[in-house]
Amino acid sequence: MTFVTRFAPSPTGYLHRGHAFSALTAHRAALDAGGRFLLRIEDIDATRCRSEYDAAILEDLTWLGLAWETPVRRQSEHLTDYHAAIDVLRARGLVYRCFKTRKEIDIGRAPHEPAAPYVGAPLPADEEDARLGRGEAFAWRLSLAAARAALGGFETLTFVEDGAGPDGETGVIKARPETAGDIVLARKDVGVAYHLAVVHDDALQGVTHVIRGQDLFEAAHIQRLLQALLDLPTPTYRHHGLLLGPDGKRYAKRDKAETLRELRAAGMAAEALRADLGF
Ligand code: GLU
Repeated sequence: MTFVTRFAPSPTGYLHRGHAFSALTAHRAALDAGGRFLLRIEDIDATRCRSEYDAAILEDLTWLGLAWETPVRRQSEHLTDYHAAIDVLRARGLVYRCFKTRKEIDIGRAPHEPAAPYVGAPLPADEEDARLGRGEAFAWRLSLAAARAALGGFETLTFVEDGAGPDGETGVIKARPETAGDIVLARKDVGVAYHLAVVHDDALQGVTHVIRGQDLFEAAHIQRLLQALLDLPTPTYRHHGLLLGPDGKRYAKRDKAETLRELRAAGMAAEALRADLGF
């Protein structure tokens, strides 16, 4: 089977060193395996994504010396695909409408307490109809209880990690989708949630290896469940360590000085950055 991997940034800001490291890691893995490298723009969240960042991603990665297959898949152009996947889950009774706001869910939670994963249930039909009639906003949530029943439990749900999770998790990993609660698959303002689009596209694009930062290790647990429910293949996961800045903290989009465009504007050559990052 041909090795296929991808770099899948969200255009919510400029790429920084951490992104460069991740993209170079995936690109190198594809080259080493004689495989394919894809770029996918994950721009489903119209409230946060901007086309100016999208264009900058292509420019910055080109500057970095990367090449990828075209056309580039842009998730915002395929929303109907994702809605169709939600409809499949809906037809099987795996999702339900949740009318609760974040505020309502968090009632009683002290400010220092982390938000507990939300687990709910569908409303009685008459109450749901009444709320829909009033035009109340709702989110589609995946029901862990229904998923558990459909799969006969999560015991056999595993994935292969050939990199490592943040605590050194490697090898065959038992998925723990329950730690996330009943995740939101679609909302009014953001029609599709990240997990669903990722799982859909990785399968559609024949991705065999998901290579990305360890900050997304927990996402694999949820994505594995969605693969099982949608009858999609599970890629091999290879999470890599996060690049740390001089202050020992990971790079983030808010560290403006470390964006690739800032480095470039400051006169840094792409070769120098690649060498810095170990490529
Ligand atoms: N779009 C996600 C992000 O920018 C990454 C998705 C993935 O690699 O699975 O954080």
